[in-house]
Amino acid sequence: MNVRLAGITQESVSDGPGMRITVFFQGCEHHCPGCHNPQTWDRQGGVAYSLDEVLGLIKDSPLIKGITLSGGEPFLQAEAAAALACEFHARGKDVWAYTGYLWENLLAQNDPAWKALIAECDVLVDGPFREGERNPGLFFRGSANQRIIDVPASLKQGRVIAWQP
Ligand code: SF4
Repeated sequence: MNVRLAGITQESVSDGPGMRITVFFQGCEHHCPGCHNPQTWDRQGGVAYSLDEVLGLIKDSPLIKGITLSGGEPFLQAEAAAALACEFHARGKDVWAYTGYLWENLLAQNDPAWKALIAECDVLVDGPFREGERNPGLFFRGSANQRIIDVPASLKQGRVIAWQP
């Protein structure tokens, strides 16, 4: 399986709790005004890798708490994103993902690959970046409209449950 990435950050402390690997997927159709990563929009940009190559590039260690799937839009490459997430869950790490889609719309699509990716996420930060709601003081999100969602609890209860630190 191949995946197209914009980059990998080996030690991030801003994309979720603890020290994390952040994988930036290439391709995004949301085109939010004020986006910090417009170079990730082009679906043919970035670099194509096999999943094994990606795993070879990632410097995992006991200090790494989890992996964050960012972008770009990870749900445009949901199958590969779910496979990466599954690998890190097997290593005992947690999985965060960022998406420009809304939680309700992701579920309504009933797409098997999207469902598989949702099932591999512990936390999902949803919604587009909105310049008018930008707040640099917010943890782990750029604008106040974005929700930090506890995925297992939300699936279980059938409604959005906010992640609690
Ligand atoms: S969803 Fe994220 S990467 Fe895509 S345009 Fe919006 S802010 Fe940028």
